[in-house]
Amino acid sequence: MAFDTIIAGGTVVTASDAYVADVAVSGSKVVAIGKDLPRENAGRVFDASDKYVLPGGIDVHTHLDMPFGGTTSADDFETGTRAAAFGGTTTIIDFAIQYKGQTLRAALDSWMEKAASRAVSDYAFHCIITDLKDAHLDEMKALVREGVTTFKLFMAYPGVFMLDDASIFRALRQTAAHGGMVCMHAENGGAIDVIVRQALAEGKTAPKYHALTRPTTAEAEATARAIALAEMAGAPVYIVHLSCNDALEKVREARDRGLPVYAETCPQYLYLSLDNFDAPGFEGAKYVFTPPLREKWHQEKLWTGLKQDQLQVVSTDHCPFCFKEQKEMGRDDFTKIPNGGPGIEHRMSLIYSGGVAQKRFSVSRFVEIVSTTPAKLFGLYPRKGTVAVGSDADLVIFDPNREHTISAKTHHMRVDYSMFEGIRVKGMPEIVFSRGRVLVEKDKFMGRPGGGEYLKRSSATGLP
Ligand SMILES: [Zn+2]
Repeated sequence: MAFDTIIAGGTVVTASDAYVADVAVSGSKVVAIGKDLPRENAGRVFDASDKYVLPGGIDVHTHLDMPFGGTTSADDFETGTRAAAFGGTTTIIDFAIQYKGQTLRAALDSWMEKAASRAVSDYAFHCIITDLKDAHLDEMKALVREGVTTFKLFMAYPGVFMLDDASIFRALRQTAAHGGMVCMHAENGGAIDVIVRQALAEGKTAPKYHALTRPTTAEAEATARAIALAEMAGAPVYIVHLSCNDALEKVREARDRGLPVYAETCPQYLYLSLDNFDAPGFEGAKYVFTPPLREKWHQEKLWTGLKQDQLQVVSTDHCPFCFKEQKEMGRDDFTKIPNGGPGIEHRMSLIYSGGVAQKRFSVSRFVEIVSTTPAKLFGLYPRKGTVAVGSDADLVIFDPNREHTISAKTHHMRVDYSMFEGIRVKGMPEIVFSRGRVLVEKDKFMGRPGGGEYLKRSSATGLP
């Protein structure tokens, strides 16, 4: 038997095992895994000894080419998926935003258009609902059947994205009846708005006040409310970008009661803190995103949450805005700083480095957090999220010993600063495959715009 590609002698890592084997690829799929597969007729053989062979990373929370506050996030589907590939992420789930008065279908169509000719690797969409009438409830049902199985709702940003509790409850009931899952931005937007207006009235306009006006209690309250509404509806719920211990305790409590409650955190909450706002001048604007950075002690609580499966996923909430001209829109008023930070490229290395290299959890748990559970929760498993015969050959040859200092000077994201500037990571992707094609080989990009495919998803498969 001849194979297109053999990845030879690496340590294959899945969420449950790590073992030395050859992995053979033909076309877009993994077709064999075993000891000493025949190499004679293989198109290419990659030596992976002393390296890991991982399933491609799945980042379920990105905002490419997204309009926000009078500007647009700096990476489009080409530059964003390309930067993701350099970091070992081969699948993203982005968000199609329904604006008020629009159908969900129109939202999806416009984001499909943004992605189709640009994405270098595979992609799917959640649908953000900002306006929920009866007709939209019917549309939710139709979209689930067509492979858009998750809906993001906001408990923050009143007047822009926020839905009231009744609408949220109706959406949750719809997913309970017809499948799919709600992803929740959990912050009490009403209370936060009162605090923000007071701060501005007192002349507190610097970037740090973005963080200081969004207390952890506001996130914990909304998290608890989201869980209660989901419990009443009999629906699962997924809390996005959980940032603090207060909210984590609500998730832990719900999971201890056996409720289908899931949550993700992001590298910025594991590596950065309120201390970053000590940066000189207006530089704190680089760290303005929502929920905001917290006191440093929350970081270790979140790492422990990942280890103990109170948190199931790490995504990036990648939403880059350049410091020059974009972040600067808020020089005199922190509420005018576009909310978001760049992270799509460094998720795998940051979580490997802090999680596995620093001995907080195993390499299998790492794979589970960055690839397998995202695939399972979001209806892509087992096509994505594991190394198995029949799965897509989205594979990463990962060097656990290669060290790298993160910097805007060398990153591939189209943004003029790095949130993680100067942080040294251990563990870097070396060769990255998407459906059998080499996307990145030793720091060289080999893919092409439009090479990515849209992924229709099923309702959550095998919820962990
Ligand atoms: Zn987001």
